[in-house]
Amino acid sequence: MSKKKDKDVCSFCGKETPYLFEGEDGAYICYDCIENGHQILEDAKRQQQSAAEKPLDLKSLPTPSAIKAFLDQYVIGQDSAKRNLSVAVYNHYKRLLQPVDDNGVEIEKSNIILVGSTGTGKTLLARSIAKMLQVPFAIVDATVLTEAGYVGEDVESLLVRLLEASDYDVKRAERGIVFIDEIDKIARKSDNPSITRDVSGEGVQQGLLKLLEGTVVNVPPKGGRKHPEQEFVHVDTRNILFICGGAFDGIERKIAQRLNTQTVGFDAMQQSARYDKNDLLQYVAPQDLKSFGLIPEIVGRLPILTYLKPLDREALRRILTEPKNAIVKQYEKLLGMDGVALTFTPEALDYIVDKAVEYKLGARGLRSLTETVMMDVMFEVPGQGVTHFEVTRALAEEKISKGMGVMRNQV
Ligand code: ADP
Repeated sequence: MSKKKDKDVCSFCGKETPYLFEGEDGAYICYDCIENGHQILEDAKRQQQSAAEKPLDLKSLPTPSAIKAFLDQYVIGQDSAKRNLSVAVYNHYKRLLQPVDDNGVEIEKSNIILVGSTGTGKTLLARSIAKMLQVPFAIVDATVLTEAGYVGEDVESLLVRLLEASDYDVKRAERGIVFIDEIDKIARKSDNPSITRDVSGEGVQQGLLKLLEGTVVNVPPKGGRKHPEQEFVHVDTRNILFICGGAFDGIERKIAQRLNTQTVGFDAMQQSARYDKNDLLQYVAPQDLKSFGLIPEIVGRLPILTYLKPLDREALRRILTEPKNAIVKQYEKLLGMDGVALTFTPEALDYIVDKAVEYKLGARGLRSLTETVMMDVMFEVPGQGVTHFEVTRALAEEKISKGMGVMRNQV
């Protein structure tokens, strides 16, 4: 297809190049012009698509209770976090729709922070809410961020993810939602100013603060580090909602300290008896985040503070079977594709939960334990003409004890 002609000149840009595509009437086009033309058409297509997107209007918005009902399909328990998140997302939509009125009332955004130990469903909540949103949504990890100029990613990279999620449509990105996972990992490393700079802690928090407050940020369009000759996309973060999540390991100690010092003297004994010592996280307050190492300005910019409960045995049991994407349903589907109807006896499921609790594996462990039980079944059953397979407690016990034995031997 690509031809060499006597005079190697592109009919579009006039550039001399040995490789050209030939058209009908002796017209020639070079690779660069094809590339540019393609880009222009892609941009035009994208603009058309975003113009065709249904604009937000209050009547068609899901109400907070509808948002929560949607989350209930995927996330077990965690009612307080779900309610807070639903209201925050609903209010975010309202902010985007707020009329510019004369009386000067302006709805400000309320960024959220979710505190809960690992494996309690923070990321799951974020992912589930992303499924129903009518605005772009990006999940990013705070652990990769470092202060500008150091090895790692600049804070602005959060916005690159959001731009990607909105097909590089800046206007859409400016109305989006960013979930920042593992925010606790950028806590200040120590209370004492040290000789070495805290480039992945306080430095990142300072950078993040600007984004949370609302500012125009120069974002390198395709990610990577900023450098002086680069062209930037300008993204205004005023309307971007930030949801942060973190495990804040050890924050219970700070909470306990605060609760103890609040109640001194005669009342102290009575008062402290009222606190549920097994679930101190429910009393988490902004000052605990500060004691943990978030700078006060960041805490102030995350006005909605909510927590996720540790998952108890009952919650773990429900997680196995109830969510739309439940682990058990996934294995049923896998074997269903081989024409095998898979069932688990309730005793088998109880046993899996018992082991997850015993080994303190939480919800993440449910998956690996079920996988251990199912591995041989998935290997042996297909192609055997089996139409029904029941996983009993005896089978679960056998496979898990064998699996654990293997794991122990490997250690
Ligand atoms: P976190 O972000 O809090 O560390 P994740 O959301 O990644 O935890 O949860 C890990 C896994 O455990 C998820 O993939 C999900 O299958 C399961 N899980 C955790 N909490 C819940 C929950 N409340 N309801 C349903 N599944 C859950």
